[in-house]
Amino acid sequence: MHNTTQARTAAGYIRGMTAVSVLTALVACGGNEPASESRQSEQSADESQPTRAAGQTEAGEASNDRAGTAPSADEAAQASGSSANTDEADANVASDCTFEVEVGDNLQYSVSQITAPADCSEFTLNLVHTGNLPADAMGHNWVLVPEGTGLDIARAGASKGLEGDYLPDDDSIIAATEVIGGGESTSITFSLDDLEGDYTYVCTYPGHAAAMRGIFSVRS
Ligand code: ZN
Repeated sequence: MHNTTQARTAAGYIRGMTAVSVLTALVACGGNEPASESRQSEQSADESQPTRAAGQTEAGEASNDRAGTAPSADEAAQASGSSANTDEADANVASDCTFEVEVGDNLQYSVSQITAPADCSEFTLNLVHTGNLPADAMGHNWVLVPEGTGLDIARAGASKGLEGDYLPDDDSIIAATEVIGGGESTSITFSLDDLEGDYTYVCTYPGHAAAMRGIFSVRS
């Protein structure tokens, strides 16, 4: 049949497109009957895509590091966007051993990934709050902790209050700025001597950690 041949050719030609796109293409050329067959083959092709497989591997490793803590929805979202994060990581290499992160009147760091060269003896993180809300309403800090411990450390810091910068007494905290509000800025300088690989940075202001997290990578 003319339609079947055409549909299969189209499905093979646009490998990597979503099943919805293929279905749309099939509907457009009037091939309703072979749609289900083609959709199945597209799904299996989609699952075998290298980028998707890499994302799943990363997500698996990340949840293993979290020692039984179930990965949250936004962690899963980060993992599925791993190819985009890789591009961003390349753009965020702090070759001069300093990096500026902006925050505002929402629960977001300006970057979700920072790469620090391992040959930096010291690293300086500048935190700039470009918003208008005061620290007691929309305060932010930047706290560097072992990978996967950000939520627990933020939770433990809640009782310390704004005066205590919402920082718990925890020796695993590598570096931390104070909490700042709109129009303020601060910075922290810390040694990279004992750091290698991936760490988590997080805002410990109550309720922010689930959204305000990123990866700090020390790479040689
Ligand atoms: Zn915050």
